[in-house]
Amino acid sequence: MTKYVMVIDLQRCVGCGACSIACKNENNLTEGIFWSHKITETYGTFPNVRYHYLPTLCNHCTNAPCVTGCPTHAMHKLENGITMHDPKKCIGCRYCMFNCPYGVIYFNWQKPHPFWRDEKPLIKGGTTSPKIEVQKVGGNGTPYYNPEREATLKGIRPKGVVEKCTFCDHRVKKGMLPYCVDACPANARVFGDLEDPRSEVSRLLGKFHPFRLKEGLGTKPAVYYIRSYNPAYYQNTKGGI
Ligand code: SF4
Ligand code: SF4
Repeated sequence: MTKYVMVIDLQRCVGCGACSIACKNENNLTEGIFWSHKITETYGTFPNVRYHYLPTLCNHCTNAPCVTGCPTHAMHKLENGITMHDPKKCIGCRYCMFNCPYGVIYFNWQKPHPFWRDEKPLIKGGTTSPKIEVQKVGGNGTPYYNPEREATLKGIRPKGVVEKCTFCDHRVKKGMLPYCVDACPANARVFGDLEDPRSEVSRLLGKFHPFRLKEGLGTKPAVYYIRSYNPAYYQNTKGGI
């Protein structure tokens, strides 16, 4: 049976954040919500400063505490390992957010995309209004709305429910990669089937010493990290952040 996982090569990652922007675009994410996010840390004092960047997303845990704690089964597992959410069943109790040890589930406190209501330029002749001018030129307002997201989930999730990364299940279903993987300019993100010994994810996990976030909790994340954003630090400590 297929078991989808993602491997993020931290030594290839350049910390550009293109994954997060691509995700927002693909999944019609509103202000303040990031299905694809990051952890950053800065060590030392100038001029001896070291910076770490670790891209994050839903870990699609095998033992997912968000799923076991959901009273309505809105949060559920697919056979291929993806942790999915059904906004129609969600009552907005936020137990899943409380139970998730990774802080990757978001709650829609307000009606999504408030800046679509931005109809006037901030400075006349100097800035554009997302709804009127940008739409006139580009044929679409900002943020761009992707109707393809509707294939498996509400295109834009309503106020009062949670939402999170789905490994772009709507694209994966069609044999495509999650959009963050496609958009990464450094090929740092690799997605595939862990059950296939010939897949690139299996090869990378066999070649390097992978780690997962908070492994001690027994959640068994499906997002693996290899190497380090800062190789010198990695060699000295034998680990990432
Ligand atoms: S797009 Fe790729 S290189 Fe850029 S931050 Fe994300 S994982 Fe790193
Ligand atoms: S907020 Fe929704 S998905 Fe989360 S536990 Fe409650 S009903 Fe389930």
